[in-house]
Amino acid sequence: MPALSGDIVIETSDKSIPLLVNPASGTLAPAAPARLNLFDLDREGLERFFAETLGEKRFRAHQLMKWMYHQHVTDFSLMTDVGKALRTKLEDNCEIRPPNVVLDKGSTDGTHKWLLGMDTSNSIEAVFIPDKGRGTLCVSSQVGCGLNCQFCSTATQGFNRNLSTAEIIGQVWTASRHLGNQTHKHRKLTNVVMMGMGEPLLNFDNVVRAMSLMRDDNGFGLANKRVTLSTAGLVPMIDKLSEVSDVSLAVSLHAPDDDLRTELVPLNKKYPIAELLDACVRYALRKPRISITFEYTMMKGVNDKPEHARALARLMRKFDAQVQREDAAKVNLIPFNPFTGTRFERSEESDIRAFQKILLDQKVLTMVRRTRGDDIDAACGQLKGQVMDRTRRQSDFKRKLEQQGINDAA
Ligand code: SAH
Repeated sequence: MPALSGDIVIETSDKSIPLLVNPASGTLAPAAPARLNLFDLDREGLERFFAETLGEKRFRAHQLMKWMYHQHVTDFSLMTDVGKALRTKLEDNCEIRPPNVVLDKGSTDGTHKWLLGMDTSNSIEAVFIPDKGRGTLCVSSQVGCGLNCQFCSTATQGFNRNLSTAEIIGQVWTASRHLGNQTHKHRKLTNVVMMGMGEPLLNFDNVVRAMSLMRDDNGFGLANKRVTLSTAGLVPMIDKLSEVSDVSLAVSLHAPDDDLRTELVPLNKKYPIAELLDACVRYALRKPRISITFEYTMMKGVNDKPEHARALARLMRKFDAQVQREDAAKVNLIPFNPFTGTRFERSEESDIRAFQKILLDQKVLTMVRRTRGDDIDAACGQLKGQVMDRTRRQSDFKRKLEQQGINDAA
């Protein structure tokens, strides 16, 4: 039943079936469900939908996925090997709707950023970073973020909502189409990192479904180790992830002791370093071919002193010993990326190198991440989009900027 003017739409716990209240009769009736966006289903879901709802063979679902993810086709009428009757059924019940590109910007170094409109009031960002022989897409999982890491620009935006599976895989689809990516021939998009806006483990089901499409042969066909989930450290969810997925794991550590880490990443209060590292050991033991990356954002005078490096080296050596594998842990040093109003500064290059040397001398595999896309604010921790904040973070941060006489035009 279409929504009539004068009807009142109320939200139910199952958001997919809104109820319409007719004010005249007071009766409740389910509204016509919105068209099913096929980007919301992973292979299993699509197979089930074809078999159980459409009464079609499962392999038809695979045909459809190839059109969607290999050919970037969203119009059922162009799917020439799908029979007319099935095309009509699909047109009547479903749609293939990618996110709406509000803006895209290229950097002089080849980095490309998309601003994607998620609904009337929210947008998020995704960034493509080409590098020798590989192309990495940095994908967002939530509109804003609720974790409030002190050095992250997304945190100042507050939190609005989780992204759907379609909105997550739609970021990969948008970049893949833009790049003319060919899944099984000339692949330009070789890696995906869930390091954009949001905490992916707080949007578990949608993220897991989207990551499964990234790795499916009928999807984007990426190898497990080329899809990386980055987390601020939700211990129980790391265990849950290890049960359902084989992706690479990156953990945002940023400090070698609990006092400092709690200051930088408030989530540490709930899941302190020892518990977090234990969860990482369990993950590594379950996934013998996957290495774990520990991210460490280098902030001048905060966490970049030699004693921090020595303490971090001890943690990493202990981790390697527990996993019983040399180089099970990798450390990725990220020079801090500044944003308007932040109290932090990037560490000096010489301090970053000295920090790296201490770790390397202790046989801890350590890399320094090069910052890319500086001219388009596309680096780690700089993604903003537009967030209709449901927390008070955005207004608190704006007030703080005003007090400092800063006008944040972005
Ligand atoms: N919520 C996930 C993904 C966040 S972004 C997580 O916490 O891992 C990916 C990485 O960028 C994280 O390690 C995050 O801590 C780091 N980061 C955030 N702000 C940053 C900044 N301003 N400069 C450098 N790295 C930053």
